[in-house]
Amino acid sequence: MNDAFSKINRVAQAIFDDGRQVHGSIAPPIVMSSTFAFASHAELAARYAGDSTDPLYSRTENPTVAFLEDKLAALEAGEAAIALGSGMAAITSAVLALVRSGDRLVAIRNSYSDAHRFFDMMLPRLGVQTQYVDASDAVALKDALPGARLFYFESPSSFVFDCHDIPALARMARAAGVITLFDNSFASPMRQNPLALGVDLVVHSMSKYLAGHSDVVAGCIVGSRTLIDTIRTGASPFLGSKLSAHEAWLVLRGLRTLPIRMEAHERAAVVVAEALKGLPQVTRILRPGVSAPLPDSLAGAGGLMTIELAETVDIPAFCDALKVFRLAVSWGGFESLALPADIALRPPEPYSRHEPKGVNRRMVRLFLGLEGAEVLRADLLQAIAAATRSG
Ligand SMILES: *Cc1c(COP(=O)(O)O)cnc(C)c1O
Repeated sequence: MNDAFSKINRVAQAIFDDGRQVHGSIAPPIVMSSTFAFASHAELAARYAGDSTDPLYSRTENPTVAFLEDKLAALEAGEAAIALGSGMAAITSAVLALVRSGDRLVAIRNSYSDAHRFFDMMLPRLGVQTQYVDASDAVALKDALPGARLFYFESPSSFVFDCHDIPALARMARAAGVITLFDNSFASPMRQNPLALGVDLVVHSMSKYLAGHSDVVAGCIVGSRTLIDTIRTGASPFLGSKLSAHEAWLVLRGLRTLPIRMEAHERAAVVVAEALKGLPQVTRILRPGVSAPLPDSLAGAGGLMTIELAETVDIPAFCDALKVFRLAVSWGGFESLALPADIALRPPEPYSRHEPKGVNRRMVRLFLGLEGAEVLRADLLQAIAAATRSG
């Protein structure tokens, strides 16, 4: 599983092997149909009885979405996958399918902001409490896990890109009988496969690297057939969170270039990190492989980093001086993006404030896009120079 050749084969199989499409079309067809007709009473009856897998209705299954789901399962080395209308739909569908009133969820402190808000704002109304732990504190985690239903974690984690020992955390959870739910959006399936490291369920925001062009909001869950079936029958049909055929097709198109996009994002990130490292105005660079060693499980750090700017740099002026980087949330598309922590930590009402551990108001998250490493380096250097107060 871990040797390079079998990995290349699996990824190639998932991304490039489309089988034989209708009319021999090279791009997979977009099946834009809400409902599907059956040829006879007997065929419809067989579908209802579960004796056939023919598509019935696109809220629960659609051929274009199913085609994508097979590729996602193969990419993450899982048995099955479900594609949904957003990364948050993936997180909420997985959690809501698996928790009952009275359950406790354990989550790492630096989780994605809206996942954190879902745990804090919605789950208590269903009688589910969340306990936050620092995943680098093995003792705290060992104390928290027994009796919990789910353990939710990320590595690298949001904004600060802390990495954790995934196999050790997965083992600890399994020993305590706790289901693990892992957000692998930051690594993408090209750089880390948590199911192979002992995790039970992987979620992705496919709005990021997988779709890759900032034109789709989508998500997925990958895992064992049993757990995916539990979500498929126990939550996602009622939440109505399925992905549309057209958006599934856009993700399928994005997947074709995922391997080379990841390489280009990383090349740009290396050039930029190297250029910023020596500057007196840049006090820290948070990125696996720069601020801490790249863990064994992570084959590359992707296109994100968070920089901390010295007091001599005016952060609004830095943001406004950027010519190539755009100011925006999200990441994973063509465009390079900057997100200052002073604003990201100040969410619009009525959302609860969520301050990840280790983030401060001197920080700016950068996503290195595909405009070219030299262009991005030059843009950052000129913006830092323009925003540095003299004296
Ligand atoms: C963006 C993001 C999500 C949410 O995904 P959406 O597709 O926006 O719903 C979840 N986790 C991480 C780590 C993200 O970056």
